[in-house]
Amino acid sequence: MSQCSCSCGCGSEEKARLIYACSGAADVGHIADLVARRLDDEEWGGMSCLSGIGADLSGFIESAREADNIVIDGCPVGCGKKMFEKNGLPYTEFVLTQFGLVKGSTPAESEVVERMAEAVKASRPLK
Ligand code: SF4
Repeated sequence: MSQCSCSCGCGSEEKARLIYACSGAADVGHIADLVARRLDDEEWGGMSCLSGIGADLSGFIESAREADNIVIDGCPVGCGKKMFEKNGLPYTEFVLTQFGLVKGSTPAESEVVERMAEAVKASRPLK
């Protein structure tokens, strides 16, 4: 957690925003991974390892416990979401097929990655 750096004097603490992608083998899983990396590059949040959550590794679990966790799943199977639920961690899930992508028919082209990154940001603006 980082201390608020605004000048309002509120002294409130902001939660770190962590981004996780299902990074599945399907095209939409690949896109989820690329979207997470793009958002990390833009410093919209910091990408972390979903596998660390799935493997119940304490360092990843503790980091996620107090964070603003963004989980990007490629499809409604929701592998990322299920890892967070298994560990009782807070999260907001984005499912790329709910933004119009079709699993198995959506090549991971840069235009698609950009469009999905913008859709995630629009749904969850920075405070
Ligand atoms: S959420 Fe869908 S695309 Fe992602 S790993 Fe699971 S089955 Fe694959």
